[in-house]
Amino acid sequence: MRLSFHGACSEVTGSNILIESRNQKILLDCGLFQGPRLHEEKNFSGFGYSPSEINALVLCHAHLDHVGRTPKLVKEGFRGRIYSTGPTKELAQLVLADNEKLMHDEVEKHGGELLYDLADLERTVPLFETIPYGERIEIVPGIKLTLLNAGHILGSCVCVIEAEGKKLAYTSDLGNNPSLLLESPTRVASADYLISESTYGGRTHEDINLRTQKLAWVLENTIKDSGVLLIPSFAIERTQELLHDIDHFCSIEGCNRPMFYLDSPLAQKVTAVYGKYPEFLGSNIRSNHLDNDFFGLERVQITQTVDESKEINDAPSPKVIIAGAGMMNGGRILHHAKRYLPDSKNTLLIVGYQAKGSLGRRILDGDTEVKIHGERVPVNAKVKAIGSYSAHADAPQLENYIKSIAGLKRVFFVHGEPEESQAIANTVSTKIGIVSIIPETGKYYEL
Ligand SMILES: [Zn+2]
Repeated sequence: MRLSFHGACSEVTGSNILIESRNQKILLDCGLFQGPRLHEEKNFSGFGYSPSEINALVLCHAHLDHVGRTPKLVKEGFRGRIYSTGPTKELAQLVLADNEKLMHDEVEKHGGELLYDLADLERTVPLFETIPYGERIEIVPGIKLTLLNAGHILGSCVCVIEAEGKKLAYTSDLGNNPSLLLESPTRVASADYLISESTYGGRTHEDINLRTQKLAWVLENTIKDSGVLLIPSFAIERTQELLHDIDHFCSIEGCNRPMFYLDSPLAQKVTAVYGKYPEFLGSNIRSNHLDNDFFGLERVQITQTVDESKEINDAPSPKVIIAGAGMMNGGRILHHAKRYLPDSKNTLLIVGYQAKGSLGRRILDGDTEVKIHGERVPVNAKVKAIGSYSAHADAPQLENYIKSIAGLKRVFFVHGEPEESQAIANTVSTKIGIVSIIPETGKYYEL
């Protein structure tokens, strides 16, 4: 069995792993490179293998950095099956279509070429085959796949591959434990090799219980100051967690005016998929919401059109606006940021990972003036962050997860900035005594 990595090596985006066994080739994830423009140009380079020679693709969860190059793979000749859970299939379709629209707008404004178009996406959808958690199936001759709950986003998986008498597990993205909406990641009893994410390989999250307290504090202050609370949010999982927590806050405190806005068409569609697959949610949340109303949507003003989005400006403060994109590198949040960041009564609340170079990261790092749509915008609003909303395991959780897998000979660390991958690799090799490797893009590793 031979392994090679074609993205997410010493970085957090572009996940794409090739496994070759005898004459079969399969891929785990096929993600987009995201970040500064120069970096995104990598999406247009060749894959490092021939897409038409790939027999099957496994998509472990629906984030764009794990599924975003799939239509390009199809465009360049891939005709195999795509294996995933049901929610991953539906969520992937939504994010891929949304991304096509963003790329389309970008190309219209600045020129250039589309990575894929709607026709490529239409050719991609019929290739999906959905499988439930825990079922072991032979996806190509000689290679078996089992998907286990990863507790990261709805339908996310740890993938277990068996071939040539060896077992390889891949965390894709491993969830933060405990998760508000999902079950904790399922343990892999034993494996010979592990490919692990390392987003927070060198860090420990703040106590998860602080989250509700901190959110309540920010909401109370927004109401007291009659300010505007802006929350840039990722459409999948984070938005649903926020809606759930806001609903909880309101049911205790009472919120007597319509002041919550969900200004993201994508997040609205994603929330509907969550409602469609309650069996993928954790048993806790299901038993607390026997009516299946997990997100208190009757409290929230949902804005579909651009005009409705603009009308939020006219609504009196206090108000809370949840809008995409999560790292503020596009989307409706930018219009709100331009309007509300200059006023010190307002608050920007960061609840997700902010990649280097993103607008969210620059503001979080303390920039007092930023450029939005070519305009200089002073940042006088308060900037707050809640770290425990992370959907990723932190260093102690990664360490525990790895330690619990019997028989590991080698661990490959991907999906982390270099210092994070290095930190967890050091921990695992010195404390647990397992050979740890930070792979290089395109290099082959014999198993
Ligand atoms: Zn992810």
